[in-house]
Amino acid sequence: MKAIQVHRFGGPEVLEVHEIPTPNPGPGQILVRVHAAGVNPYDTYMRSGTYAVKPSLPYIPGSDAAGTVEAIGDGVKKVKPGDRVYTAKTITGAYAEYALADESQIYPLPQKISFAQGAGLWVPYGTAYTALHHHAKAHAGETLLVHGASGGVGIAAVQFAGAQGLTIIGTAGTQRGLDLVKKEGAHHAFDHTKPGYAEEIMKATGGRGVDLILEMLANVNLATDLKLLALRGRVIVIGNRGEITINPRELMLRRASVRGFTLWAATDAECAEIHAAIAAGLDNGTLRPIVGKELPLKDAPVAHQDVLAPGAFGKIVLVP
Ligand code: NAP
Repeated sequence: MKAIQVHRFGGPEVLEVHEIPTPNPGPGQILVRVHAAGVNPYDTYMRSGTYAVKPSLPYIPGSDAAGTVEAIGDGVKKVKPGDRVYTAKTITGAYAEYALADESQIYPLPQKISFAQGAGLWVPYGTAYTALHHHAKAHAGETLLVHGASGGVGIAAVQFAGAQGLTIIGTAGTQRGLDLVKKEGAHHAFDHTKPGYAEEIMKATGGRGVDLILEMLANVNLATDLKLLALRGRVIVIGNRGEITINPRELMLRRASVRGFTLWAATDAECAEIHAAIAAGLDNGTLRPIVGKELPLKDAPVAHQDVLAPGAFGKIVLVP
């Protein structure tokens, strides 16, 4: 099979196409014919060798794939060959024509959801759900700021929160992104590249502040976020790419809190809940994964540049 392999940590150019043997499923394992693979920012951190999880080389990047079951190992009950599925992590990696996965990493992909959309489920929707429910403990009627709403996690958060009855303020850095954020359910959208947009957010809450913030770029925004919080407000740090100085007094004044998490550390029970929520949302139409760009597998280096560039519009996926 053709696969993108990383033989040394480095820039996007270390993502090379290699012809390697197609894996065979052992007991409890499933071989998926990958029709689309989702590109997530963490794939780039891992490739550069700076991420907390450092795989042994060579490795195939990617945790999020969608496709059909090609073959199953002994004892597999969950699926049969031909079934449409998405992955939540894999054993061998998603950026390939085939991916080997454990039965526990495979979930059904409804007929009405395309493979490209299915490749944008696990990390974006899993992160958005766990942020809102396990960490923020969001309630209907609360006001939520999705700080960075135009990308994979942001759009998922807007859709989940909209279905739950929160008032949503989203930010994006382009008009196209702002339009998308509004279309997917945000009640207000502001441009995070424009000076004064934080004041506009405060104005939109009538001066009260927001109850919750899902933060995609904490190293830039955390100090500002604290000033945007209402009493007992919570900031959930989802994305961060550096250090920042904050004034803890802003927390004290509001009895506010800041919490971070990684999706990797989600428990089995939390993961089961996430997949049940994804299944229900896809079924009832409240979750509509947005695919902004599809690229051929060999263009993985381009995808890794694009996913870190400004102007997010849903997901970038690779098509083997
Ligand atoms: P993505 O699709 O690349 O989207 C990035 C988002 O950040 C876009 O909405 C982008 O908006 C926005 N952004 C850019 N500059 C910003 C600014 N100054 N203030 C606020 N937002 C800004 O990435 P993603 O998949 O949604 O992931 C978002 C972040 O969460 C990444 O850092 C990722 O590594 C992290 N993450 C963490 C976990 C976890 O377990 N904690 C899981 C998944 C993702 P424009 O492009 O429109 O400017």
